[in-house]
Amino acid sequence: IEPLVKVENLKKHFPIKGGVLGSTVGQVKAVDGVSFTIKKGETLGLVGESGCGKSTTGRMLLRLLEPSEGKVYFEGKDILSLSSSEMRKMRRDMQMVFQDPYASLNPRHTVEKILEEPLIVHGMRNRQERKKRVKELLEVVGLSSYHAGRYPHQFSGGQRQRIGIARALAVNPKLIIADEPVSALDVSIQSQVLNLLQDLQKEFDLTYLFIAHDLGVVRHISDRVGVMYLGNIVELSTSEELYDEPLHPYTQALLSAVPIPDVDVKRERIILKGDVPSPSNPPKGCAFHTRCPQAMERCGSERPAFQEMKDGHYVACHLYG
Ligand code: SF4
Ligand code: MG
Repeated sequence: IEPLVKVENLKKHFPIKGGVLGSTVGQVKAVDGVSFTIKKGETLGLVGESGCGKSTTGRMLLRLLEPSEGKVYFEGKDILSLSSSEMRKMRRDMQMVFQDPYASLNPRHTVEKILEEPLIVHGMRNRQERKKRVKELLEVVGLSSYHAGRYPHQFSGGQRQRIGIARALAVNPKLIIADEPVSALDVSIQSQVLNLLQDLQKEFDLTYLFIAHDLGVVRHISDRVGVMYLGNIVELSTSEELYDEPLHPYTQALLSAVPIPDVDVKRERIILKGDVPSPSNPPKGCAFHTRCPQAMERCGSERPAFQEMKDGHYVACHLYG
């Protein structure tokens, strides 16, 4: 069966302006050739440090940012070829939940107004119908119609994210791109919101692209996980296998920082040297070679191919294959 989402060689290069005439002096390769699929009903986690291109990738899927190159298919349709009015209709099926619900909710609008907006945009003209839908949405995310007349600042962070989720659900999307939806929340609240997202997925048959910088957060919610470094996916596999048998040295380092509840398993903490290099001047060869504890000579000149090592487990590293 066809995946719900298929991304091929997706790139986003931003020009760097400089010089006296403001000419283009270089490029930031924010996303530099990313490919993956997401099956219907699946959650694909996308993990990496800030600036690795994960949010940019998510935004390109909705065309909130136009890709520089590559393809995005949704239900087999090439969405980059759609006109803006066709794309507007398509957005009904693809919604976004943002990291900072406070910044993404208009502070001067009541919750009711915030939730009515997507309904109006997508053609629900009857006011009574909209009110009914708002009530439904609030209940679905664990709030109540009693909250409808309140403003965003009257809610806690966790409740605000519930409102953000309700807004994304308003028009019955098929795909939700959640960009660090719990990163701004207290740890105690994080699991509540993650549980809610999982319940909603079952109830409404949703497909998720779940973006996070923390492997610990994506672990339980994701069926498969892609690890990004400097604009590329360096490893992709089922969540289970990625945690049990990480292949890429970068994944191994990220995982070594995740606390393991099981005391019998001891993972030595791998500290990476240096910072992530600038995406305007990524290292040649394997982009990770400047920090990789296992780098070999060829890593500085040859870019490793992204290849399938086992069924569905892909890695880009010269240590394999
Ligand atoms: Fe490390 Fe070389 Fe593998 Fe890159 S290709 S991750 S530098 S071993
Ligand atoms: Mg981000």
